[in-house]
Amino acid sequence: MAKAGAKSKTDVTARAAAKAAQSICRFCGQKPDVVRALTPAGKAQMWRKCCASAGIIKTA
Ligand SMILES: [Zn+2]
Repeated sequence: MAKAGAKSKTDVTARAAAKAAQSICRFCGQKPDVVRALTPAGKAQMWRKCCASAGIIKTA
């Protein structure tokens, strides 16, 4: 019982780590926060708020 529990816990931890690594912005390394915004020309553009808060993207 104890062995199985330990194994399960490790598995969950490994899964969480893999999921966390997957959900990290490749630009700023933070949790991705991407929104779709419209440019003044009316064109849809992806806006990375995570990078903006990290200082990678300069906010206008
Ligand atoms: Zn980012």
